[in-house]
Amino acid sequence: MEINGCSAADFLVYHVQAAWTRTSHRLALASGLAATVTITHLLKAGDGIVCMDDVYGGTNRYFQRIAGEIGLDVSFADCTKPEVLKAALKANTKLVWIETPSNPMMKVVDIQACADLVHEQDKGIVVVVDNTFMSAYFQRPLALGADICMYSATKYMNGHSDVVMGLVSVNRDDLYERLKFLQNALGCVPSPFDCFLCNRGLKTLHLRMERHFKNGMAAAKFLEANPMVERVIFPGLPSHPQYEVMRKQCTGCPGMISFYIKGKLEQASTFLKNLKLFAIAESLGGYESLAEHPAIMTHASVPQNERKVLGISDTLIRLSVGLEDEADIVEDLKQALAAADPKIK
Ligand SMILES: *Cc1c(COP(=O)(O)O)cnc(C)c1O
Repeated sequence: MEINGCSAADFLVYHVQAAWTRTSHRLALASGLAATVTITHLLKAGDGIVCMDDVYGGTNRYFQRIAGEIGLDVSFADCTKPEVLKAALKANTKLVWIETPSNPMMKVVDIQACADLVHEQDKGIVVVVDNTFMSAYFQRPLALGADICMYSATKYMNGHSDVVMGLVSVNRDDLYERLKFLQNALGCVPSPFDCFLCNRGLKTLHLRMERHFKNGMAAAKFLEANPMVERVIFPGLPSHPQYEVMRKQCTGCPGMISFYIKGKLEQASTFLKNLKLFAIAESLGGYESLAEHPAIMTHASVPQNERKVLGISDTLIRLSVGLEDEADIVEDLKQALAAADPKIK
């Protein structure tokens, strides 16, 4: 099949890369956190950042323990409620940091509503969306009013768990010039070999994301129907509180699922220990299925009282559903849940 003179395969690759390249400027950086640090250097001492309350543990740690210590005024707000974000904006606010779906609570933020609200208040406030979970394939924050879209390419964009890299896209020339200067001045540059690997990964982004969506949906539906599961949080399920927002602004969902297992820490730990196909590991978005315990692993650096407010309890488990066979994934979850069920023991 030929489309505009390209073969179908060329067209697909073109389509995927267009999702990432249909922006005027793009930068590759040494890691997702290097992208976060570079973007934060757009600010100067005394400026304020309003950050989504539930974010990647490393973003939380960087904003609270580093940015906050060198004179930036950092506060957190639940951006799923636009009125809460509005109330959090101050005269010194220069940056609003949104992550959607958030990590690990999978809260979905209405990007357009937040960007409009912030820019109505002050056009100069830079709205950043961490698009790591959705990837360029399922969500396009710049088209929804954000000023900067960033990725940890370590996750879905590369997808092969063999690269640490960050990506930034912007449509504004002024932001691009400044970020490019900072990228170089701060030394946040990626290695040529990682760029090569990431380019290779991007070529299958569309195929991988569709499969993550299909497998994630199957796992989430299975979990929702299992008596050992208290609650499943997956933006692709109608039971998700912001399901309609997700349907409005995304074309699919990645394989990220959080759920509460019934019982206590013991049940969560027995479940994790009994998984065979899922590896116990941090990170996410690769070809292989991973499971982890946010309170002990990825979000241990979030202060305990804040974890409690967010719902990151001892029974919360986060899954990154990979590209394996759907039936094998469900079977593994099934046998590990049975092992954790005190009634079956
Ligand atoms: C992993 C991650 C980051 C940080 O990326 P690194 O490439 O590991 O530095 C930032 N945001 C989100 C949502 C992530 O999952």
